[in-house]
Parts: sequence; structure tokens; C-alpha cells
Amino acid sequence: MTDTTGAFAQVLLDLPIAPSFDYRVPPALEGVVQPGMLVLVPWGRQRRVAIVASLSASPGIDEAKVKTLLELVPGAPCLPGDWLGFGQFVARYYHRHTGEVLLPAVPKRLRVPPRAPAADGKRGRAPLEPFALARSRFRKLASPLVDKEDGIPAPRGAWRPTGEQQDVLGALNGSVGYQVWLLHGITGSGKTEVYLHWLAGILARDPQAQVLLLVPEIALTPQLAQEVRARLPYPGAILHSGMTETDRAANWLAAVEGSARVIIGTRLAILAPFAKLAAIVVDEEHDPSFKQQESPHYSARDLAIARAHSLDVPVLLGSATPSLESWQAAIAGRYRLLSLTRRATGATLPEVQITTLREHPSDSPIPEGLTELARDQIRDCLARGAQTLVFLNRRGFSPVLSCAHCGWLSQCDDCSAYRVLHRRGAARPAGSRSGYQLVCHHCGSERPVPPQCPSCGELELRPLGQGTQRIEEVLQQAFPGARIGRLDRDVARRAGAAGLLLDDIHEGNIDIIVGTQMLAKGHDIRRLELVVVLDPDGALFASDFRAPERLFATLTQVAGRAGRHQGGAAGRVVVQTRFPRHPIFTALATHDYAGFANKLLDERRDAGLPPFSFHALLRAQAKSLPQAVAFLRQARDLAQDLAVITARANTAAARQELPLLYDPVPMPMARIAGQSRAQLLVESASRPALHRFLAAWLARIEAEPAGIRWQLEIDPGEI
Ligand code: ADP
Ligand code: ZN
Ligand code: ZN
Repeated sequence: MTDTTGAFAQVLLDLPIAPSFDYRVPPALEGVVQPGMLVLVPWGRQRRVAIVASLSASPGIDEAKVKTLLELVPGAPCLPGDWLGFGQFVARYYHRHTGEVLLPAVPKRLRVPPRAPAADGKRGRAPLEPFALARSRFRKLASPLVDKEDGIPAPRGAWRPTGEQQDVLGALNGSVGYQVWLLHGITGSGKTEVYLHWLAGILARDPQAQVLLLVPEIALTPQLAQEVRARLPYPGAILHSGMTETDRAANWLAAVEGSARVIIGTRLAILAPFAKLAAIVVDEEHDPSFKQQESPHYSARDLAIARAHSLDVPVLLGSATPSLESWQAAIAGRYRLLSLTRRATGATLPEVQITTLREHPSDSPIPEGLTELARDQIRDCLARGAQTLVFLNRRGFSPVLSCAHCGWLSQCDDCSAYRVLHRRGAARPAGSRSGYQLVCHHCGSERPVPPQCPSCGELELRPLGQGTQRIEEVLQQAFPGARIGRLDRDVARRAGAAGLLLDDIHEGNIDIIVGTQMLAKGHDIRRLELVVVLDPDGALFASDFRAPERLFATLTQVAGRAGRHQGGAAGRVVVQTRFPRHPIFTALATHDYAGFANKLLDERRDAGLPPFSFHALLRAQAKSLPQAVAFLRQARDLAQDLAVITARANTAAARQELPLLYDPVPMPMARIAGQSRAQLLVESASRPALHRFLAAWLARIEAEPAGIRWQLEIDPGEI
């Protein structure tokens, strides 16, 4: 090894090729450059923004080849050391490089390299540098706390906590340092109120403290953000993926520099640096949207716990239907359980009725309509002037178009899925083909509706089953006077449309709301007294072992929208299913989360599934399925001496020692956009053993095999 002369720095870049990169520190910056600073470095013929990780050289570097870093990014703060440490933890856990985790967490605006100096050495007159811009933007954003977005009802003051809420707050306020609290509170029990009281206390006690509230979704619940801002009257920042880059930069910088005290965000907010984070709340902690769907597939809920641990601060997870992971941790005593068992307003939980659809005659234009019970209930509700939510988790008009003559179905050419029949624009007279379209929800391909069966020429093609658009028409026919609104992703795609509709709903201008999952969460609609759940049956028999847990959570959430306010009639829920005796509906009707969760946990324990074991999933994508499977087989062979390869060797003793590798199989959606997809599941009873194995195994797998794209997902949510 040569003697190193001068100063060196290892910096992080968003590149998969190495954990860090060496640069020489120019003499002018010696003693100035510090870990956590943003610097500009030369990279080939480009310049890139990098984060300084340490002030040392990698062992054995070739000094002659080391380039010199260019300059500090003007106006950038030094990012805190705990953030770098957290990034390293995340990278280790998800088996990525730290730069791949941390650089994407810096808003784009703040990591574009400033223009290079012109040939004469002078930089063209630079526009105002991005950090200064972000600071002034935040001052504008943060000043008027309320009444910025019009149409949102004015927030109200704090409630006096109920007895149960006081008990919960007493426990929370009495604890110091790291602790995971799991707040299990039925829908409408006033969890939000608990968060606000708790956080208000923390903010009042320490004039520098910051608090982070993570929520599954902000765009659709502007009320919550509004309420938080009004009730916690400190400068607040919001972080989510839907905001403009300018606003994102402004809010992010305010979190780092401590000028924002209250930060509300979706999952990506957990990766932001904070000046002095004192507490974290994860609302609806069970919600799958806390899981990032692309690499590195992190779970913001899990990272919130890791972050709280490293900062030695408390984290509060709240839900009416906690994830089984969290529930088990509470049972085992690792998390402390807090409960709210009654609705804060004094309202009772809704009465749930389960009904079955008779099979309709096959020539009925509406194969699955509304049961008598549902119709009667909606009629009553309309008569009382109250609102109804009709929940159907399937957008479009009909999930598949079929030929009754030969059995042709509107299969997508490139995916293992059907193209869904969609209506464009307003309702059309029955039998009209124009104004409809076939759309694949996976690859997005669109086709006109064929004039006749492509396979046998039969003229009459028939929509099978119903989506939200069709049920909207059914309701319009059944209740001609009612004002009906629909909210699903097709509607929400039009900018501002969802917000306007939600305002209408809250103001009582809509009688019947048809909606998907989007409407299930977080909404507190005063006049909503009836919830009708249509056709939840698909999820009952899904192959994923988490399907029942998810369905129960969704149904509990939707049901929980009904009758939240005292003074109205008690809430009612009608569930239409073909399997009325399924235990999931019994648990729903008796509001028995704990009973249902404990039963699922027993099954998971018997089967050795999470949370009693830990999973990683290697996924491969290729032109053909055999190619994808062959790659995974090879990968499995590379694990020969590191793991238990076959399920037959799955003895208790072997599993204690070594992870188990299952056979590669096609993914449930085996083809998307012409790419075939397969997966290989790795399971271990020990998390450390799993990660030791993965590190050794990944080192053997070729990074970029020809014709294959692969990725590793830790703690996959769906398998
Ligand atoms: P959750 O998040 O548990 O579903 P929320 O926090 O949305 O419940 O509260 C449900 C309703 O109860 C809200 O309308 C809220 O204003 C009201 N509420 C909450 N706490 C109280 C209280 N202590 N007294 C009266 N009403 C309350
Ligand atoms: Zn046909
Ligand atoms: Zn497709």
C-alpha cells in the first residue's frame, strides 16, 4: 500500500456498483469538508452531487487514479450524523448500498449539479441557488397555517379526552426514551385525538423538538393534515410523492434544519433527515402502502421503529386492525399495548348484516346486483337524509368481457390478466359499443371493444361481473332521485377531481358514494350511516397467506366509516357475499379483531409463517418463463452450502441453523407487459441467520445476467 498524502474523502453516490467512492479533498477545502456535507464530484464527463460519508481513504486505493472533488454544494446544510447511520442500517437491512438509499431521499431539486463553469472559468450567471430558494419557499408555505386550501371545513378545537383516552395518554406521557407503543383502537375511538394530545405535549416541553406523523395517504385526506396543522400550531412540513419538486425541496429542507416542528408524511418521509426528532406516530400502521413497491422495497413502519430505536425516542403505532407482526410483538411484550375500546363520540359500532346473493339468471343484464336487504337499507337511509357508502374494490365497468357462445374472454395479449371493460364519460344506452374500451390494469394497453367475438364471430358480447362504473348505473336506476358520486383511481387521476368530490361528500351534497379502497381509510363523514360492501369474495381464496388479514382490515376500515357521530342513527353495514359463513364475516359482525388475529396467528405459528419466521423473495423477470425459472434455479444452486435447499430437509434442527429455499415458481401474475416473472422464497426462523445468508448468497449471484432482471425483496408483503 502506498502512503496516502493529502486529505481524502469517501463519498456516497446513487450507484449500485460500490458502497462508496474515493476522492481527494482539494487543499482549499481541507478542514472544511465534513461527513454529511453535499459535494460536487467529477464522474466521467459529468458532475454529480454526492454525500460525504467519511474523511478517510479506502484501504489500498491507487492515489494516482483518485480524482479531486470539485466544491461544496452551495447553501447546503451538513446532513446529520444520525441520518448517515440510519442510511447505513437501511442499506444493510435491504442489501443495497447506502448511497442508493440516501441520495434518492434528497429531493431532486437539491441534488441537481449546478451548471459547470464556462471555458473562461466564469460560471454563467447562476439562477438563485436551490437551497436559498427552498428556504424562502418554506417561509411562504408555513406562514398561514389554516384556510389555505379552500373548501376544507374549518378545524375545531381539541376535545377533552375521554377516560380511555386519558389512560392511554397517561401511559404515553409517563415514558421516556425508546419504546414501541401499539395503540389498538376501534374505528372512531379517537386515535387521532390521542396522537394530537401526545404530540402537543412533546412539542410544548422542548422548543426544538420535532414530531413525525406518518400516514398511508395524504392527497385523499387533506382534512387530517389541516387538522394537525391547526391543532399543533408550529411551523409544519408535509412530505409526500404527489407534491411539486419545489415544495418537496422546501419541506424537506425545513425538516433537516429544524424550522419545521411538525412533519406529516407518507412512507418516503421516514427517509428524511431531521434536526431533532422526538417522537414518531405511524397511523394505520397495518396499511400496505407503508411498503414501497419498488426496490429497495422498504417498510416505512419497520423503519420508523428502527429510527426511533437509534434516536432513543418513542414510536406510536395506531390501528383498528394492527398487522399480525405488531400484534404478535405486543403479545410477546416487545411492544406495549394500549387500547381504546369505545367510540369517542359515544356512538356505537355499526350493526353488521351478512347477506347472500341468489344466483341470477344468466340472461340478467346485471349478474350481480344488489340484494333486497341492501336496497331496503339504502332506501331507508335516503329517506332519513343520511349518506350511504357502496364499497366495491374494482374499478371500471366490468372486469371481463365474454362471449357466451364460445367462451372467449378479453384476455390481455401481454399479461396474465383480463382487459377490463371501461366506460368513457357518461352512461350510455344499453347495447352501445361506442364509449366503451378494454383496458389492461397491469400494462395499461387499451383496445376498442370488438364489434363481434374475435374467436367465433358471435355478435353479442357480454360484460361479466361488475365494477364501480356499472354499480353506479345500477344505483342510478334503482334510486333515480339520489345524488350519486363515484371515487376510484379513474376519477382521482383527473387533477383536483377527488378533492372536489370529497368536499361535496363532506358537505352532504352526495347521497350515495360508490368507491374503492380509496374511500375506506381515514375519512370521517358526518352523515354517513350505511356502508354496503359488494363482492369481497375474490380475496377469500387468494393464494397469498396474508389475504385474510388484509381483507379483514379493509372491511373493518370500511365498516368503521358508518355511524361515527352521535345524534344520527346507529351505523349499519351490509355485506353481500357468496360465503356468508366464512369466519372472516363472523369476526367482522362481532367486531372481534383480537379473536380473529389470534386465530390467524395460531395458523401462522403452525405453518411456520411470519411473524414466526422471516422471508426474503428473489424475483426474476425475463422474456420467457423458463428463462426466469432457470435463472432462479441457478441462483438456488449457488446457495448449495449456505442453506437448506429442499423442503424435505425441513427439520426443526436444520431450520434453526440455515434458511430454507423453496422451489422457484411463477409469480401469481406470471406475465406483465410481455415479461415473464418467477420468484424464489427464502425462509428462516432467525432474522440474523437470514441476513447472513443473503449477504453471502448475493455476493455469488451475477449482478447483470443477460436477458434477466432480478431483485431481492426483504419481508415481502405479498408472496
Ligand atoms: P379514529 O382515528 O380512532 O378512527 P378519530 O380520531 O377520527 O377516530 O375520532 C373519531 C371521531 O370522534 C372524530 O369525529 C373526533 O372528532 C371525535 N372525538 C375524538 N375524541 C373525542 C373526545 N374526547 N370527545 C368527543 N369526540 C371525540
Ligand atoms: Zn365467441
Ligand atoms: Zn396487459
